[in-house]
Amino acid sequence: AAKQQGRNRFNYFAPFMQEATRVRMTLVNELREAVNHDELRILFQPIIDLASGKICKAEALVRWQHPVRGLLNPAEFISIAESSGMIVGIGDWVFKQAAREVQKLQALGLPDFQISVNKSAWQFRDNGSNYEQWLDFLQELHLDANSIIIEVTENLLLDTANSVSERMLALQHAHMQISLDDFGTGYCSVAFLRRFDIDYIKIDPTFVSNLSNGTDGVVLCEAIIAMAHKLDIKVIAEGIETPQQLAALTAAGCDLGQGYLFSKPISAEELEKQIKNQLPPVNNSLDIHRTTC
Ligand code: C2E
Ligand code: MG
Ligand code: MG
Ligand code: MG
Repeated sequence: AAKQQGRNRFNYFAPFMQEATRVRMTLVNELREAVNHDELRILFQPIIDLASGKICKAEALVRWQHPVRGLLNPAEFISIAESSGMIVGIGDWVFKQAAREVQKLQALGLPDFQISVNKSAWQFRDNGSNYEQWLDFLQELHLDANSIIIEVTENLLLDTANSVSERMLALQHAHMQISLDDFGTGYCSVAFLRRFDIDYIKIDPTFVSNLSNGTDGVVLCEAIIAMAHKLDIKVIAEGIETPQQLAALTAAGCDLGQGYLFSKPISAEELEKQIKNQLPPVNNSLDIHRTTC
């Protein structure tokens, strides 16, 4: 009877399963074509030093310029990229683009400018990226390893695969900086912040959006910032959309901010334009006017 039931269940779900598999296979093939035909793009979202109001970093965010469906956000293809293994190649490409861009921006007279790239746990597992190639690439471009910040989520730090923590620690040993993305939404303990010697915490937008007066939002942000500073970690608030949120974060001692209030993710050309606009006028040599952050 059980066998009979099982077979019935299988028959019942089969058409639906086949359809899901078909859609997935189509997406995988399309994404593979996209990579081969240079349909991936990178946008950069400025990160602002809240004390000076200037752009001192940017986050690289991948997009897919789909021939029919237009510009697609990562939500529409990153999980397919991960489960198909394509994330490794895509992630390496994003890394190289980010490195080339940070080289350009540092040469504009901002030697401390950094670009962050997002990495998922897949990229640190055994069949993942060869992180030594990232370091070699930075060296080829004559960039310090800390020109690039690696953004990871709390669950990556909790990943039980040995390769994940080994690779993270190796990158840090090479002086690449680590930023903990979406902080507060996972299960990361303070012990992990210490173990991985995290450089930045990015406060998740869900906390920032609760920053209107009279809610827990302010208390939570203040607590995260105080804890981070005790551990010598800088704080980036993500998803800042209103002047009120910015004021509350500044009052709480937040170091850096990112969000639509300052800028949406923009093209490399637009980012370069904005950065040139905030540089002091070039009277003499750029060296005298080097701006740091
Ligand atoms: P994330 O790393 O947390 O990136 C921040 C997301 O918030 C971005 O979405 C950004 O466009 C959006 N955002 C920024 N400011 C605001 C704001 O003020 N309001 C609102 N509502 N949203 C804001 P995006 O570009 O769609 O990226 C989504 C996620 O995709 C990223 O979240 C990241 O986890 C992932 N991702 C992006 N690029 C890559 C990549 O190259 N590799 C990997 N593995 N993941 C990536
Ligand atoms: Mg991120
Ligand atoms: Mg985030
Ligand atoms: Mg460090």
